[in-house]
This record gives sequence, structure tokens and C-alpha cells, in this order.
Amino acid sequence: MTKIRTRFAPSPTGDLHVGGLRTALFAWLLAKQNDGQFILRIEDTDKQREEVGSLEQIQESLKWLGLDWDEGPTVGGDHGPYLQSERLEIYHEFAEKLITAGHAYVDPYTKEELEAFRNQAKADKSPFLFRNHRPDQSISWDKKQTLRFRVPKLKSYEWSDLVRGQLSAGEEALDDFVLIKADGYPTYNFAHVVDDHLMNITHVIRGEEFIASVPKFLSLMDALEIERPLFATVPPILGKSGGKKLSKRDGATSVAEYQEQGILSESLLNYLASLGWNDGTEQEVFSREELLNKFSLSRVQSSGARFDHEKLQWLNWQHLKILIDSNPKKLVEFLDTHTDFTKSQLSLENFDQVSILASTKASSLEEFSKQLAIFIDPNELDIKLLINDLSPDKDQIIKTLSSSITALEQLSGAEFKAELIQSKLKELQDESDLDPRGFFSSLRAAISRSKVSPSLFEMLEVLGPQVSLSRLKQTLDQLQ
Ligand code: GLU
Repeated sequence: MTKIRTRFAPSPTGDLHVGGLRTALFAWLLAKQNDGQFILRIEDTDKQREEVGSLEQIQESLKWLGLDWDEGPTVGGDHGPYLQSERLEIYHEFAEKLITAGHAYVDPYTKEELEAFRNQAKADKSPFLFRNHRPDQSISWDKKQTLRFRVPKLKSYEWSDLVRGQLSAGEEALDDFVLIKADGYPTYNFAHVVDDHLMNITHVIRGEEFIASVPKFLSLMDALEIERPLFATVPPILGKSGGKKLSKRDGATSVAEYQEQGILSESLLNYLASLGWNDGTEQEVFSREELLNKFSLSRVQSSGARFDHEKLQWLNWQHLKILIDSNPKKLVEFLDTHTDFTKSQLSLENFDQVSILASTKASSLEEFSKQLAIFIDPNELDIKLLINDLSPDKDQIIKTLSSSITALEQLSGAEFKAELIQSKLKELQDESDLDPRGFFSSLRAAISRSKVSPSLFEMLEVLGPQVSLSRLKQTLDQLQ
């Protein structure tokens, strides 16, 4: 069996956006889950649209998402070079073959002449087709002239798409399209067909904007006697309202922006996979390994997928929780870059306990940071929070705090555990004439300096006797 070989073929014309990334992800998943190869090819033949730094940014983005390529820039491979601008001789060789076989010819017309043909077609209310203007005699090609493909007459095309099923187009769809431009560079139509063939690509996965051109690719493949690869067209990504394609107006679209927003690579990967694919169950959170196990092209939908930033944020929190539970080291790195906490603030001995506890009352990075602050960098005590919001009775709060301090002081360091703390304080509250709601919420506010906090007893245990008692005493002092 031939090994699956897929490719991602971006043009370095700007930042890598979600659409491109999702295509790359699907191609990567298909190759990796089948023990095949994923190739990165840079389609830099449109020198006018090229942007400085884009090539590097594309590679950075793919690396950040963990979409490593088996062949391509920086890693090399047996089918290089992987930058199309370094493959011009190859395209010229294939062009010569087509000329010799009568499948290509030099375009003899000036811009003005071409424009006149176009205007005439408009006046006649008929579509402009270059094939109606082929020159009679052939001109020898000096590689600085536009070379066109001679499309075969009266041919219709059928092909199957792994996502869209059986597709077809009539011969009227074809024009004598350009193979090599006057600047010597090949067009996308030509170069990618040659490269997919030479690079032994088995599955061509790309966006729907290319579907209309497939008959051109097929006619070129026939002329070059090249075997067709399999095609898979991924659905477009739409804005949240669903009507239009995702654009800048819908919010962030580039990887760099998501990174800046504190989106984890795991979350973005998971979210991208869900844009047009599901595994047929209700599962929404997938790890990279699960995606590798479960992804299949046959479950990719053909209709557009809506991009929902809130959903991405939700997924991000799910993956952040996984990180909190499993990888405190990576979490520290993440918090160091994406929050105001410094590494030294985060280097607590019991950081893993603290972060797990802080996550219990959060559902976003922002809330999580607020909860972490309770342990790392608490707010100043706000007496109003204690008295106005929680209990109007200052004496009752004073009684609560002082009796709790006495009770907690009786516990040794080893006894300062949530369960014991809970029974001690409950006993105290039972014996007193203090209202239970007011009792516990005053303690919570005195300890956490905030209205929302994790469980009081666990919070006390994690903070330890010293910090807990000092916060209670400080509050008491301020009240008296
Ligand atoms: N260079 C093309 C693009 O960036 C690649 C399309 C394809 O995958 O064939 O859109």
C-alpha cells in the first residue's frame, strides 16, 4: 500500500489565519494517524503579494500548534526544494514538455489586444474565453513570455471528492489558462499540479475556493499523463452569524492574536478540529492524541462551519483545567506570560494544591487569576465588604472572628486540615448564638478579601495556620 502523503501549501502573503490552519490540521491528522508524511511546501510564486516575515510566521504558527512537518523548509527531504521559487527550472522543464506535445503555446497578444477581445465579448454579451483566440502558428518560447495551456475541446470532467462526493463540470468551464507568467514564475494552477505529482502527494486537502478550478487541474494532469491524487474539500469557516466568511470584523483570526489572548495551543487545535468535523458523539474536548485516534475525513462536513469565539474561550478553560490538574510546571510558564503574576510569586511550595483549589470557583482565565490572587497576592481588606455586604452587625463579626481565632489556635500545624478545621468551626458556631450564614461568610471574607472564594476550610488548610490566623487577626484589628 502506498503511504499517505499530505501537504500544506501556504503562500507567504500574510499571517496564517484560522482557515489555513484548519486545512493544515486536517492534512496533518490524516498523515499522522496513518503513519504517513505531512509536507510543508511554500507557494511563493506571486512575488508582488509576498510579505516580509510571513514565511517565518507560518512556520512559527505551525510549530506552536505542534503540526510538525516531515519534509519542507528547515527539515529538508527527498522531494525538495520546498519553496516554489527555488523550483523554477522544474516548471520550465514541464512547460517544455507540454509545448512539445502541443499542449501549451506562447500567448502572442499585448495587454491592449487582450483587453479589446474582452470588450468585444462584453459587447456580444458572450463570456470571454481565451481559447477562442489561439494563435495560428507557434512561437518559440524564451521563458519571458506568457505560456498558456491549450485546453482540450469538448471535454467534461468528473471527479470524486472525499468530502463532497461525486462532482462534475462541463467543458464550457475551461479557458486556456496561464501556466508561466511573463516574469518566468509559474501560476498556482500549474506549479501545484507539478509539485503534488513530484512530491507523491496522495491526498490534496484544501478550501472550497479551489473547487471551480479542479477541471483545469484535471485537464493539465491528463496532458501531463499524471495520476490524479485524491481530493478533499474542507468547508468554509463562517463568522458567528453564519452568513458570511469569517473576517477581521468577527475578531481575532491569526494565531499570533490567539497566543496573545492566552489561548493554549491545545485549545486552538481542539477548536479548529471542531470546525467542520465531529466524531459523531457529544464529545467536545479532545486532546491531540484523541484527535489522532478519532479524526476521519469521512466525518468532515461540506457545509460551512461557524466560528464562535465564546466557544473557543470555553474550550480554552477546559484545557486550562487539564493543565492545572496535570502540569503545574507548564501552568507556571503560562501564567507568567499571560497574567500579572511573576514567576517568584508562583513559586509556592504547594502551588499545585493552590492552583487546583483556585480553579474550583473559576470558569475563565480571568476568574482563575482572581482566585489565585487570594493565595498569592490578596486584595487589601475592604471593611465595607464585611459589614455592608455580608452582615450589618459589626459586633457579631467581631465575636465570630475572635472566637474562631481562639479555636483555630488550638490546632497544631499537623492538625490544620480542612476536615478538622470544619468540625472545629462548626462546633463553635453551633454553641454560639451566631447566625450560621453570617458566621461563615465573615470568615470567608476576612480570609479571602473577596466575595467569591474556594471552600473556606480547604482555603484555610492550603493557606496554613500562620497566614490564616494573621489575616483573621488583621481583620479583627481593623474592625475594633
Ligand atoms: N497556495 C495556495 C493557498 O495558499 C494553496 C492551495 C492548495 O492547497 O492547493 O491558498
